[in-house]
Amino acid sequence: MHLRNKQVDVDPCCPVCGEEDETIEHLFLRCHVSRSCWFVKLGVRIDPGTLFTDFMREVLQQRDSWVVAEVQNMIYCLWEARNRWLFEERKFDFAMVIARTQTLGIVAPVTANAGEEPRHGKATWSRPAASVIKVNVDASMGRDNLAGFGFVARDGDGEILAAGSKYPSVASSSTIAEALGLRWVMEISSQLGFRRVQFETDSLQLYYAWKKGTGRSVLFSVIHDCISFLSLFDFVDLSFVRRQGNACADFMARNASTLSDVIWIEEGPPGLFCLLQADLLASVPVLS
Ligand SMILES: [Zn+2]
Repeated sequence: MHLRNKQVDVDPCCPVCGEEDETIEHLFLRCHVSRSCWFVKLGVRIDPGTLFTDFMREVLQQRDSWVVAEVQNMIYCLWEARNRWLFEERKFDFAMVIARTQTLGIVAPVTANAGEEPRHGKATWSRPAASVIKVNVDASMGRDNLAGFGFVARDGDGEILAAGSKYPSVASSSTIAEALGLRWVMEISSQLGFRRVQFETDSLQLYYAWKKGTGRSVLFSVIHDCISFLSLFDFVDLSFVRRQGNACADFMARNASTLSDVIWIEEGPPGLFCLLQADLLASVPVLS
């Protein structure tokens, strides 16, 4: 590092793991927290010998501004987390870094619908318009790339119409899992006879990819499937809410492995009730 070359007496070890010198490669690509972040968030496995410059070159060569934005965002969050750990003694773990990347609004390559950019996103659940059913969906990644999906459908009064979960599905990243979860719940929604549906996700990546519509990655092939379901509905929209506002769907996804593949009609499993109540209290009815 630069300071050490100038004979300044600083500890060259990584302040997080203490296993290697803190080079730019170690900090951003090799340290165990960084490796987990890349894999969980973007499905990227980094070869231990990769140089940082080569890594960035490969990212830029993809010519996908969404990917570049994601990578920049991750690097910033890793750097910030490292400094907070070092100077403020804040915990440094991959879940917190990833949570931070979600809260930082990515300046996404989206030009359409500029008026409704969820820069920061709503933090609480809100009721849909009277004639629309809101379906919150979430995915939860477990071990071995196995994901669970969950959804909760509610009407304009906040009354539960259906809830369900599915486990397991294989997904290469959490964003892919979110997209597969959306595809799953779109199919179920049409089978349940929902016609005017506002789907809601807490994945900013999925939201932006949906708005963008086209691309070459695996993510876009799943979104393409979702788009092919649009003809099954009279009205479909996808909105974004922050994780706190998606707690009911999160509950269904997190417990998918024990709830198994059950669809509940006009009710949900025990444990969901208090979260439904919290959403009802937090949401002000839409005036019609
Ligand atoms: Zn380290």
